[in-house]
Amino acid sequence: MSTRIYLSPPYMSGYEMKFVQEAFDTNWVAPLGQNVDAFEQEISNYVGVNYGLALTSGTAAIHLALKYLGVGTGDYVFCSSLTFAGSCYPIIYQNAIPVFIDSEPDTWNMSPIALEKAFVWAKKENKMPKAVIIVDLYGQSADYDELLPICRKYDVPVIEDAAEALGATYKGKKCGTFGDIGILSFNGNKIITTSGGGMAVSNDENAIQKMKFWSTQSREKVRHYEHTEIGYNYRLSNICAGIGRGQLVSLEDRIHAKKSIYESYSQYLRDLPITMMPISRNGEPNYWLTVIKIREDIDLIPETLIRALEQQDIESRPIWKPMHIQPVFRGCKYFSHKQDVSVELFLKGICLPSGVAMTTAQQEKVTNTIKSCTDLRKPLDHNLI
Ligand SMILES: *Cc1c(COP(=O)(O)O)cnc(C)c1O
Repeated sequence: MSTRIYLSPPYMSGYEMKFVQEAFDTNWVAPLGQNVDAFEQEISNYVGVNYGLALTSGTAAIHLALKYLGVGTGDYVFCSSLTFAGSCYPIIYQNAIPVFIDSEPDTWNMSPIALEKAFVWAKKENKMPKAVIIVDLYGQSADYDELLPICRKYDVPVIEDAAEALGATYKGKKCGTFGDIGILSFNGNKIITTSGGGMAVSNDENAIQKMKFWSTQSREKVRHYEHTEIGYNYRLSNICAGIGRGQLVSLEDRIHAKKSIYESYSQYLRDLPITMMPISRNGEPNYWLTVIKIREDIDLIPETLIRALEQQDIESRPIWKPMHIQPVFRGCKYFSHKQDVSVELFLKGICLPSGVAMTTAQQEKVTNTIKSCTDLRKPLDHNLI
């Protein structure tokens, strides 16, 4: 068996097969069935909204949410720049135009200062967005008490991309519930997985009904196949939903495990010129990934550390490369915080292995490899700090 230490491998809790077996036993392998209904119910109860819609991916959920909010050709959509591309690809699927918003230093999520700047620009140029996509990065909530009033002031709806943040909270409320529509992902590396899948969650019944209609090929409610709108094949299968139900059972244990991984890393690495991803006092993350940042005054790029880890068969990754410096989004408008926070993070940040089943010995192997990186061990000149 491979001894490779992965970034965030799937972890089976042992309850999955029961739900999958039930689907087989009742021959509800496809199309929908009991697991899909129950998974939607269980997730929406868990996060605290009225409705859930199980879909093939988080990206599909964002796509349908944008469509529901009326985003179409030539429309503008604001989106966090520091994120995975799945957050903003659907803007392009709708032939709309993304405008990227920087992060703030406290949570690495969307900067209210940059957001306000973008709205001032949009108002002046008559380019008001149809929607704002706010991401909860690496399992930590954005600062909604700062961001939502700005969006409300300009009367623009919010899609909360909580793909990485299932189980995280902000002021006692679960991530996924802050936007007009929230989205979750159950992709293979997320805190729970259905092998591939996602969900839209909302209190807006009409939104969920309409998205459900589009996600099942826009079939009109008549016996023959009648279509008055273009549809998509975006619904989650009953088998995948069964895996998700089994995974959800152990969500709190997963968060607990990931939190202790984060805490041990911060202990192990405390004497190094490294800072941990800051944890806001406004909420509790799900600690999906432990992310560290090499201090700015250290002449070391993430690639050097990532290579050293790779030599020990340890997987690590740079922080998401911001969307506004991606070749595919060249020319898109971007609003920075003050300094360009997202680019600074990309240039110094590394995601460390954070699998639920990671052992102490594995964590020590990771941290010992980091400690042995000579460029980090150079004595610090405290006069510089
Ligand atoms: C994973 C992810 C997505 C996309 O989810 P998929 O289920 O992989 O389509 C979107 N946004 C963020 C922030 C993600 O991490």
